[in-house]
Amino acid sequence: MPDAMVAASNSQATSGGTTHQVDVAVVGAGFAGLYLLQRLRKDGFTTVALEEADDVGGTWYWNRYPGARCDIQTIDYCYTFDPELESAWKWSEKYATQPEILRYLGFVADRYDLRRDIRFCTKVTAARWDQATERWLLTTDNGAAVSCRYYIMATGCLSSPKPPEIDGVKDFKGEVYFTGRWPHEEVKLAGKRVAVIGSGSSGIQSIPLIAEQAAHLTVFQRTPNFALPAHNGAATADRVALLEGDRAGYREQARWSGAGVPLPKQTVCSWQLSDPERRERFENAWAIGDLIFMSSQLWADQRVDVDGDALVAELFREKIRTIVKDPGIAASLIPYDHPFGAKRPCLDTNYYATFNRPNVTLVNLRQEPIKSIMASGIKTDKRTFDVDVIVFATGFDAMTGAIMAVHPIKGRGGKSLSDIWANGPQTYLGLTVTGFPNLFMITGPGSPSVLSNMVVSIEQHVDWVVDRLIAMRETGFTTLEATETAQHGWARHMADCSTLTLHRLANTWYTGANVPGKAQGVMPYTGGVGPYRSICNEVVSRGMVGFRLTGPNIAEQCNDGEVVRLQPDVRLVLNMLEEMKLAPIESLGAQGARDFVAEFNADRPAGRPVGEVVDGTLPGTDGPLPYRLYRPATPGPHPIVVYFHGGGWVLGDQQSDDPYCRDMCRRSGMIFVSIGYRHAPEHRFPTAAEDGYVATRWISEHAGELGGQPGSVLVAGWSAGGNIAAVICQLARDRGGPHIAGQLLVCPITDCTFDRPSYNDNATGYFLTRSLMYWFWDIYCSPADRIDPRVSPLRGKLAGLPQAFVVTCEFDPLRDEGIAYGDALAAAGVPVEQLKARGHIHSSFTMVDVVITGVSGRVQMAEALRRFAGLPPERKQGDEGVRPARTATPHKIAAAAE
Ligand SMILES: Cc1cc2nc3c(=O)[nH]c(=O)nc-3n(C[C@H](O)[C@H](O)[C@H](O)COP(=O)(O)OP(=O)(O)OC[C@H]3O[C@@H](n4cnc5c(N)ncnc54)[C@H](O)[C@@H]3O)c2cc1C
Repeated sequence: MPDAMVAASNSQATSGGTTHQVDVAVVGAGFAGLYLLQRLRKDGFTTVALEEADDVGGTWYWNRYPGARCDIQTIDYCYTFDPELESAWKWSEKYATQPEILRYLGFVADRYDLRRDIRFCTKVTAARWDQATERWLLTTDNGAAVSCRYYIMATGCLSSPKPPEIDGVKDFKGEVYFTGRWPHEEVKLAGKRVAVIGSGSSGIQSIPLIAEQAAHLTVFQRTPNFALPAHNGAATADRVALLEGDRAGYREQARWSGAGVPLPKQTVCSWQLSDPERRERFENAWAIGDLIFMSSQLWADQRVDVDGDALVAELFREKIRTIVKDPGIAASLIPYDHPFGAKRPCLDTNYYATFNRPNVTLVNLRQEPIKSIMASGIKTDKRTFDVDVIVFATGFDAMTGAIMAVHPIKGRGGKSLSDIWANGPQTYLGLTVTGFPNLFMITGPGSPSVLSNMVVSIEQHVDWVVDRLIAMRETGFTTLEATETAQHGWARHMADCSTLTLHRLANTWYTGANVPGKAQGVMPYTGGVGPYRSICNEVVSRGMVGFRLTGPNIAEQCNDGEVVRLQPDVRLVLNMLEEMKLAPIESLGAQGARDFVAEFNADRPAGRPVGEVVDGTLPGTDGPLPYRLYRPATPGPHPIVVYFHGGGWVLGDQQSDDPYCRDMCRRSGMIFVSIGYRHAPEHRFPTAAEDGYVATRWISEHAGELGGQPGSVLVAGWSAGGNIAAVICQLARDRGGPHIAGQLLVCPITDCTFDRPSYNDNATGYFLTRSLMYWFWDIYCSPADRIDPRVSPLRGKLAGLPQAFVVTCEFDPLRDEGIAYGDALAAAGVPVEQLKARGHIHSSFTMVDVVITGVSGRVQMAEALRRFAGLPPERKQGDEGVRPARTATPHKIAAAAE
């Protein structure tokens, strides 16, 4: 229906005056709302912004507490959409104060004359989609309702302050302030007894300044935080030089970075650095005073690995102990309940040192909870504190609070958003919700939002949304809505991403844990700003995958599907490989392929340390065979796993699978012996299998000398190595030993039939290709030999084989033959478990250093090996990454992970 007709009918439909008709209604006039207005107007849409406050600024309008500043360096925390705007404004400090940021946003509003389209002092109270007119109707607490084709919520992630959960606030006779709603007039604290409740970012910023003014300050702390000194001052010279040297390049790098700040990806792992080297890196970061630097530039495994992250946390704790003179107070200020970075670290100026002041008292609410607030002050279960002022720095109902506060938001069929989100927010891309056509959220739950430099994320969202509106206008579509499949897929992708970082291990406002009764789950997208941007772009380049578009004179378009089915890190690896435009391995010849693999592996970080790594040789049929033994750091003797590397019987060696063997040795607590069996074409079928058998028998016979448990061994292998391990089990059964207690087959080659669906579905694009497999087979064995069970174990007799754990990956040509082998083993009465790894490729589990989402699979493999060896289960902290941390209600995102 044409908009003019809609306008006519709608103006009569609402009570309380004429409805305001626009193409697009924007709610909020912070960073997001202002940029939206500028773009929408520039691109010819009629628009209005509705803002509860009486001026622009959003966060920076409301949060006027002492010490309020940004915690991303200001040269990064600003608009970049207009180079002229950039040169028209000069920031005075490295981290600008709230008044300066507010002035900046006012300057932006004036420069683009935005205020004329903003209705201030107007709160949107409810929103309803009218299917007949295909428009949203927004009701407000002040003035006319608004009818719009598109409804964009730029309502902010941290704009809904959380009310205090303490009885008696109303009884208090003194002054009460909320950091998130600080008065505009000066608040005089001099000579007063002040209490601050809360020690998150706002508390940490305001406490040192309040302490300077107050007669006495009592800080009530429930959860200690990690805080880093800001070292504020002039903008950092080296960053400014980088920016001014290549402004466009600098900004572009930020857009494709992990957190929206142009910093490189660290490649060195913590275990590659000595203690003094780690300390030096930490001290350097401490001196720089930059959260993103501290959170990403120390070593590659911080924030993704519990052990790597714990090293940072411990260095932080040392700092706190050094700064805070009273050891008891220091102990209370030291965080132990969350990994560093899992909760947003804070940036401070003299925070810890403030607790050395004689006029400051710290109350640890973990030891003495607040019982109530009384007329004269605050009562804990041990003491009473008489105060004149209470400052609540208790944070926000983050990410969903402001969206849900518009109530109800009724979409298609009258469904209410609060019902649909009862178990946690569900979105597609954090931008849209199924059942709510033409509704967009800027930095909504499911987007990088609060885990990023938010201005970078806001600009990306606004550009993406407005570009879609333009495209719809050009094609004649009038509605756009995410499909169920797409939204469900996004929840799964979010859950996959959440295993990439340690956010899942902490109860924080990122997970909704700070608000009683709120559904729990990691709400922001943890996959990074750059990857997120590339996914949004991919949605468009693949024909709006996951969206249904309709219009009055155009056929409906619905390219249903999930935009990402790969694990997030696997996707990154594949994208990186594609960019490298490598020649197909099979085009290099056997030696060329070996040289390539060796060069490729040389650039990868060394695997993790284990107790001991020993290279040796064992007697093979035609001479010595090399092996590499990995011994756990724990006292032996340990069970022994004889391991066979991958590489299609042609490539690979002990070095290529070294990180995997180290990882599995650590996780299983077993000796791994990686065998250097001979390769084709020099040594064709059945050499690899026979070498493997001879090696397994020798190791079994010499287990004691190797420090292992005598009696039986286990076998394991990946790809062609999985083939060899499977074959050895059959040979050992038929040749009277050795005794094999269990077999771990990771993406094994099991058969020479190439017509199973996975061979076609995953023929190209997932690293191991069909044509590479053909090449391997041709080099290793003749067509006549291929049906021999010593190369196609699926064709052998399977009864009486050792118990098995068979791993297959969704996007692997070998997937179906691995599953067929697992099924056939089970049918033959062999105890077998299968791990069908969703979103993974053939090499996912052996790319230990880059595919973090492979951890949960390797944990399960290690558990299986321990079971086979009769050992009790062993779980390391952090391996619970398999399952996100949860409390009460299961969150939809968390549920999707399972
Ligand atoms: C103290 C503090 C410091 C921060 N520092 C940083 C930082 O250094 N770096 C960083 O990246 N991020 C920081 N943030 C996050 C910050 O919120 C964002 O960077 C950014 O300002 C968000 O802009 P926005 O326009 O999306 O939302 P907001 O700035 O929150 O604006 C949303 C606006 O919507 C209005 N609104 C909401 N609901 C309604 C309704 N129903 N009707 C009418 N109006 C409504 C609100 O009044 C508000 O003005 C900080 C947040 C806080 C609280």
